[in-house]
Amino acid sequence: MNLHEHQAADLFAKHGIRTNGGDVAFTPEDAEAIARSMGGPVVVKAQVHTGGRGKAGGVKLARTPEEARKAAAAILGLDIRGHVVRKVLVAPAANIAQEFYLGVTLDRTRRQNVIMASAEGGVDIEEVARERPERIERALADPFLELHAWQARQIAFWLGIPADKVAGFATIARQLYDAYLSEDATLAEINPLVLTGSGEWLALDAKMSIDDNALFRHPEFESLRDLEAEDPTELDARQSGISFVKLDGDIGCIVNGAGLAMATMDAVKLHGGEPANFLDVGGGASADQVAKAFGLVTADPNVRAILINIFGGITRGDVVAQGIVEARRRVEVTVPIVVRLSGTNAEEGQRLLAEAGLTATESMDDAAAEAVRAAHAT
Ligand code: GDP
Ligand code: MN
Repeated sequence: MNLHEHQAADLFAKHGIRTNGGDVAFTPEDAEAIARSMGGPVVVKAQVHTGGRGKAGGVKLARTPEEARKAAAAILGLDIRGHVVRKVLVAPAANIAQEFYLGVTLDRTRRQNVIMASAEGGVDIEEVARERPERIERALADPFLELHAWQARQIAFWLGIPADKVAGFATIARQLYDAYLSEDATLAEINPLVLTGSGEWLALDAKMSIDDNALFRHPEFESLRDLEAEDPTELDARQSGISFVKLDGDIGCIVNGAGLAMATMDAVKLHGGEPANFLDVGGGASADQVAKAFGLVTADPNVRAILINIFGGITRGDVVAQGIVEARRRVEVTVPIVVRLSGTNAEEGQRLLAEAGLTATESMDDAAAEAVRAAHAT
């Protein structure tokens, strides 16, 4: 789950990081009023779930309330990398002396959290990462431990931060790490983290993604969800209790069980195909769930065949087959459907599927090969 800048900034502030505050406006008039109440120059910033707002014209400085209104009028409605701006943050403008980058994320291969920092922060950090990766310093932190104070200071020394600013930097690095851990984030990032003209540290941008699998620990985040900014299909799936992730291929997959769903995608790839999605219908495979799954999978125009892979354990194969047949009556599916059904009552299930004119097999390998063949034959 992605947070907007103003939401992430609130969380950072809760962990002690100094941000430049501000208020959210949905109209140019609101932006003007906020700017007036702040008195002095402001920055007006698009609130969208994507970076690179500065370069796309989504961040503007305004010296007067009138300018703030004009800036908001220019930014609201803007399309930034496919994200339409519906609200802006209006915050006091900061006087920047130097811009740094500071971020925390998970390094899966090392099974550690990684803290990344650069003295070349600002809008071009992607370019720095690509062209001068040596300019980004990294430190690893054990997920069961905090970021040690010496590690935070070491990063500051690597970046060449003046001695009298090292302690302040180290404090922010540890606060950011603390926010990342305790809010169950997959990413926490400040870019730019600035030293102001008066020598103070200030987080001028805030980015945070929360691990969806930890959301049950944070009921307070539910209200931060921006339904308009989310992928409608994934939202629909979550509300139906189906785990769904859209991918780029053309074989739609409907599977019971997350592990089997992963294995199914591997089998599709093994036979030269590309899965269009990951989909786990959950424990059972009732007509309702399968019908919803058909709806989710066929919403993707790239899908050219559907592979249903069900292993009947407690779930009975004949019941699943009835569910599939019934679901197909309810949802119009125009692409070929290949079913692999094995386990409890599989034979009976396959008979029912064959009667309904569906290709059914007991072998996952055969079914994957058949689905790839069917997709490429159409
Ligand atoms: P992003 O492009 O989506 O990452 O948006 P940011 O919030 O990081 O803003 C982009 C750039 O705008 C920053 O790197 C700064 O250079 C500039 N900027 C943002 N806020 C201020 C501010 O308060 N004062 C000044 N002078 N520049 C700002
Ligand atoms: Mn930024």
